[in-house]
Parts: sequence; C-alpha cells; structure tokens
Amino acid sequence: MRNGFWVCFLLCLTAQGHTVKEEQGKMGSPFEITAVHPNRTTAVNAIQAAFAEIDRLEAMISSWRPDSETSKINEAAGLAPVVVSPELFNLVRRSLKVSQLTGGAFDISFAGMGKLWDFKSANPIIPAPEVIQKALGHVDYRNIVLDPAARTVFLKHKGMRIGFGGIGKGYAANRAVFILKDHGIESGVVNAGGDLVAFGSEEDGQPWRVSVAHPRERNKIFARLRLTEQAVVTSGDYERFIMVDGKRYSHIINPKTGYPAHELVSVTIICPDAELADALATATFVLGPKKGLALINGLKHIECILVDVDGKMLFSDNIQNQLEGSEDSL
Ligand code: ADP
Ligand code: MG
Repeated sequence: MRNGFWVCFLLCLTAQGHTVKEEQGKMGSPFEITAVHPNRTTAVNAIQAAFAEIDRLEAMISSWRPDSETSKINEAAGLAPVVVSPELFNLVRRSLKVSQLTGGAFDISFAGMGKLWDFKSANPIIPAPEVIQKALGHVDYRNIVLDPAARTVFLKHKGMRIGFGGIGKGYAANRAVFILKDHGIESGVVNAGGDLVAFGSEEDGQPWRVSVAHPRERNKIFARLRLTEQAVVTSGDYERFIMVDGKRYSHIINPKTGYPAHELVSVTIICPDAELADALATATFVLGPKKGLALINGLKHIECILVDVDGKMLFSDNIQNQLEGSEDSL
C-alpha cells in the first residue's frame, strides 16, 4: 500500500512567498506537508527534511519492522528490560502519562491483543469471548516498567506488546513542524494522515482555515476552524474498521474489554500539541460521549467535537473560540 502512494508538488506564488505542498505515504497513511517561504528552494528542502525525519521515526516506532526499538522491547517481553534511546524512552513515558490521565482508556499495551482483531482482513471474524479474555491478560499499561537510570523499558509478562498506532502520527506531526521551523519556515501545515498541525498564517496573513469532514460522507464538511499554532486530530470508526453481520467494528480497542470501542463515530481534538491530541482522540473514542466530554472539559486549552452513533454533535465547553462554523446535527 505504501508504494501505491503518489508524490506531488504543488507550487504557487503568494503574498508571503511560495507555497509548496508535497504528499507522501508514511506510517500507512497519506502525509501532506505545506510550507510557505519567499525562497522556493528553502521550502522544498525543508519539506524533504521533514519527510526524512518521519522516516526516521517510523524506523524507531514501527512494530512490524523486526529491527525497530519497539520490536526489540516486544521480543523481550517477560524476559528482560531493553535499553532504548532517550527519544523512545520519553515517548513511552509520555504514553504512560496519557494512560494515567485517561484511566487506562489510552494504553499502548493494547497491542497485546495481537492479531485477534484483524482490521485488514478480507474475511474478518469476531474472536470468541474466551479468546479475548485470555488476550486481555496481556493488556495493562501498569505492567510496562520504566527504569530512568538504566533507560530501559520492560514488559513484565510474556505475550505483552506495545504499539504506537494511537500516538505515533501525532508525534511525527510535532517533529515535522519542528524540522520545518528549524529550516526557517514560519508558516505551514503538516497533515500526518489526518493529524493536522498549522503554524503561522495563510498567504493572506489570516489564520489557517481547516475543515473537518463528515465521518460518514467525506466530501461533506461538518466544522470549519481557524487555527494558529494548533493541532486538529480526528479519530473515528470510518477509516479502518471491519463489518461483520452488518455491524461496524472500529480499530480502536477498549483496553478494559478487549472489544472495539463503539459509543462514538468520531472524535476531533483541538489543542496546541499534536501528540497529546492524537492520544486523547483515541482515549476519548474509547471513553464514549459522557466520560469523554468530562475528560476534555477538565483539561485546559484542549477542546473537542464528538459525533455520537445517532449523528449528534457534542462540543466541549470552550470550543466557540476555535469554531468558525458547524452543522448542528449530521
Ligand atoms: P488513526 O490511526 O486512524 O488516526 P487513532 O489515532 O485513534 O486513529 O489510532 C488508532 C490506532 O491506535 C489503532 O489502529 C491501534 O494501532 C492503536 N490503538 C487502538 N486502541 C488503542 C488504545 N486503546 N490505546 C492506544 N492505542 C490504541
Ligand atoms: Mg490517536
């Protein structure tokens, strides 16, 4: 699938300079990076460097590459702590913080469910309850042991695994923005497979305008936002899911039950940090409308738009500052 992605350059001259946009397939999703700069070559080079950075991260966090640091941790589950880079150590540490914040709704050890839920299968099956129950024994973030002095990660039990599918794209988006800024780009947008960060302003000097698509009809827009130094991240059951007997099963697993979360259709989180937004979107999807809204309303400078299974939109208390327009109901 990754090779199938196409690469494009869109060039145009604007008031602030050149807007350069490039799309590449990364982390199993289409990534798009936009940079505005008076010098076109500077923008092109900055974008190349940002994509190279994303490749570097993918090699570190991918759990399907046997040589990644993540795979080494998984292989040593129940056996021994693994010394890792400061970067991966800190990513695990931040992941565990989100687990604590969300009461375990976000949990990188969800991966201990293994391939029980195969969202890529052409003939998906629902695993038997006793099989799910057994696999759940491998899922608990409290059994991920960090030793800061030795800089090791240890998965306490054999069969445990970690996976960064719920936070990796957000981290990649943050790093890509850092690289762009480091190359002198003051305005741009990074869209990491739907996890979007905008910084600086559009060519007319206005904040970036971002539209959030309807979860069931991708060409219908349900909210318009104006962003400066903000991330917008959406988790939903519409991009990766399986249908069995007419029922939709999302790729976001409730770590308490071992079953796909099903109380929401989509969660959009708006906050300055794309990584946190990514992890919170996954967690809020698991928590459902009531607990999810309570979580987000309890956090400063973080807003959300939820769509429940009846198509009703729910907003966090202070979303008005971000929202330019929305539909009341889908
Ligand atoms: P997307 O990848 O579509 O942007 P998410 O950010 O919500 O959506 O990530 C979903 C991915 O996160 C899943 O494919 C899986 O890799 C991982 N995941 C699933 N359930 C959880 C969970 N409860 N906590 C952390 N990660 C999860
Ligand atoms: Mg996520």
